[in-house]
Amino acid sequence: MALVTTKEMFAKAYDGGYAIGAFNVNNMEIVQGITEAAGELRSPVILQVSKGARAYANHTYLVKLVEAAIIENPEIPIALHLDHGDTFELCKNCIDGGFTSVMIDASSKPFEENIALTRMVVEYAHDHGVVVEAELGTLAGVEDEVAVEHGKESYTHPEEVEEFVSRTGCDSLAIAIGTSHGAYKFKASQCTRNADGILVPPPLRFDVLHECIKRLPGFPIVLHGSSSVPQEFVQMVNQYGGNMPDAIGIPEDQLREAAKLAVCKINIDSDIRLAMTGNIRKYFAEHPDHFDPRQYLKPARQAVKDMVAHKIVHVLGSDGKA
Ligand SMILES: [Zn+2]
Repeated sequence: MALVTTKEMFAKAYDGGYAIGAFNVNNMEIVQGITEAAGELRSPVILQVSKGARAYANHTYLVKLVEAAIIENPEIPIALHLDHGDTFELCKNCIDGGFTSVMIDASSKPFEENIALTRMVVEYAHDHGVVVEAELGTLAGVEDEVAVEHGKESYTHPEEVEEFVSRTGCDSLAIAIGTSHGAYKFKASQCTRNADGILVPPPLRFDVLHECIKRLPGFPIVLHGSSSVPQEFVQMVNQYGGNMPDAIGIPEDQLREAAKLAVCKINIDSDIRLAMTGNIRKYFAEHPDHFDPRQYLKPARQAVKDMVAHKIVHVLGSDGKA
């Protein structure tokens, strides 16, 4: 199967009550871990590239790694998506350079400016057979070059979504309902603590999601900042020389609930980083004399694969849907 857009994936996910995982890719091991899991579970998957990933790995290398993954996993649909495009030029570069989907994130701009820039990207993208994700509302947290201080985030205003979608012509919409970028999604003061002393975050705003769904029936919704920050990885990092106090994410049961509704794309990046870093730290601690990168990248890649397989089955519900 060649690279596909997300159009058919989302239509099936919407009707089927599941979501497609959008995982950030930065190197070969990450691409392999994600697509091996998706291939074995017959799950459609979105590989997404941020501005930071392009700066790190180079556009061509990333596209070619994804092309290799398609050859190795011919039975599943794979989309290549630009995460958080912030200018028309960046989106155009990716559209011209083989991506099948782009995000234009003008959510930090005033409503009319967001519409104007999104509309411009949509016109170019649709002329080239590429789909566009846009965003209304802002998430807290840090993801590559997108950084919003806690307290400066704002939920999506449901009364704006209809006008925004009809005037821009975007194909999917990222909304802010309380998810957050990074591994520190909430301040301790926003949370309670459970019996083990682990922070419990405030619940997602399903009321805002339902209001958006009511106004956009049949339209695919996207959730950013939806890593769950598994405590097994945080503990692994901390046990083997790291220091990540109070790292927490979005509980998986809430994401599963959202996936059953109109949420068709769930973005996961931090959990990949944590799976790799926890396992590499453990490997170094247990094998201080090893120095071959293949030795420690192998368990890191396996950890990404296992984590993605878990998400596909228990959070997204996309297994067997290819
Ligand atoms: Zn994001």
